[in-house]
Amino acid sequence: MVEVVRADAVVVGAGTSGCYFAWRLNQAGFRTVVLETLALAEVGQSIDVFHMDEVRFDQFGLDHPDGDELLGHYSSGLAWSPDLEVQNKVDYAFYVMHKPSFHRRMHRLVRDTGGEILERVEVLGPIVEDGYVVGVQARRDGQPLEVRGSVVVDAAGIDGVLRTRLPEELGVETDAITVQDTLYVCLEFRDEVGEGMPTGLNFYPYHKAFWNPSRGSSVILGIGQPGGYEVAWQRHAEWREEYFCDPGRVLKRTQGRTPYRRSPYSLVGNGFMVMGDAAFQTKPFSGEGVTSSFTACQIAAEVAAGALKAGDVSREALWPYNVRYFRDQGARFASMFVQLPAAAELSRREVDFLFHSDLIFSSEDFEQMNLHYATEMSPGKMLSMGVKLLGGVLGGRFSWASVKRLLEVSGRAAKMRALYERFPEDPAGFDAWAAEARLLWGEV
Ligand SMILES: Cc1cc2nc3c(=O)[nH]c(=O)nc-3n(C[C@H](O)[C@H](O)[C@H](O)COP(=O)(O)OP(=O)(O)OC[C@H]3O[C@@H](n4cnc5c(N)ncnc54)[C@H](O)[C@@H]3O)c2cc1C
Repeated sequence: MVEVVRADAVVVGAGTSGCYFAWRLNQAGFRTVVLETLALAEVGQSIDVFHMDEVRFDQFGLDHPDGDELLGHYSSGLAWSPDLEVQNKVDYAFYVMHKPSFHRRMHRLVRDTGGEILERVEVLGPIVEDGYVVGVQARRDGQPLEVRGSVVVDAAGIDGVLRTRLPEELGVETDAITVQDTLYVCLEFRDEVGEGMPTGLNFYPYHKAFWNPSRGSSVILGIGQPGGYEVAWQRHAEWREEYFCDPGRVLKRTQGRTPYRRSPYSLVGNGFMVMGDAAFQTKPFSGEGVTSSFTACQIAAEVAAGALKAGDVSREALWPYNVRYFRDQGARFASMFVQLPAAAELSRREVDFLFHSDLIFSSEDFEQMNLHYATEMSPGKMLSMGVKLLGGVLGGRFSWASVKRLLEVSGRAAKMRALYERFPEDPAGFDAWAAEARLLWGEV
């Protein structure tokens, strides 16, 4: 006999997304069971130290970090030009935090609101009956386990163990993430870095790298690059050697993957929802994903609660999660995924020119991007940008081809945002919308 566990909602993954969703749904009066393949004490160990935006704690109803969780607080950071001559101050506060401790808090929130977390349970795939996802097949201590619920959630991280195994008729894309759509994040923890080295939060957009504080006087030199760990570590070494040589001593190196691609067109099917890294909800400009996933998890929990209350967990009933997510944050992220690769392809000289001219990489642009996930363009700002870029072209510091490319992508990005802001109200309009989206993404 296979052991069967039942709950209102089954959540795969006790990371930040799965726990935030479960906590919110428990608070709405439903019972969740969260399944985690690791021992709970191991969750978050591999990343160890991470950063969370201060403003998001109030937004998501979480107490600000304290005690073991809190390693530091920085009210601003610096964005550096490749030639290091310009440092733009970005007034946007981050906490530096101990990830395993934050996970412990999230686990407590789930349990204190009546949820259950089963550790060392490896989920193998969904159970689908009569066109609905009704549970998951899993394994605990080598024994089969079935966990059943009315709503089944994939919050299992980048590889999306459920989403990628759904039958086609559920209406959710099932393609696995590719190497090119993945950021390989490499972190090097160093200590005793000595005088003259950066302090506080430092971001090097041209290299997609950062120098941030860790615990005590130690620092993290990090990078996120597509193409694999080998490429990413190679770029890490080149960046570090060029700017800092070999400061202090290496305490440890860690690495991990984070998605860098558009979300699946639909995040719901009958009895099914996907969120967090499993739904590719990381911020396009930084690869961070904890708080941007909370946006989705909060909407998803509200929608799931309504559906459970009404006793209808069909794709139609769960659809408002798609609508609310894609018309807002999803639209901004889709637009950025069109725009940012063009900025990433600019030459070093061009990025230096933009920094020196206070264009695209300005303090204001970074602040708006962090806070609103978009940079607003007033007519005055656009005019001044046009004049400065023309000056750059005439002075040989910016290529005409790049101007054309930036104009082209900003037009496409605006179209993409408008398309997502028109995400269909119900599934009836979805096929036509998705066909339009495929065309637009195909051009990108
Ligand atoms: C090196 C690195 C540094 C980062 N730093 C930051 C940062 O500073 N700030 C920030 O906001 N973001 C950061 N990110 C991104 C961030 O870690 C993710 O966006 C975020 O953790 C996503 O949370 P999640 O819960 O969706 O997925 P995950 O954190 O991946 O959690 C998924 C959980 O599901 C479990 N699981 C997977 N498969 C199964 C299965 N088959 N059965 C049962 N359980 C399963 C996993 O063990 C895991 O615990 C970083 C990423 C990396 C790689």
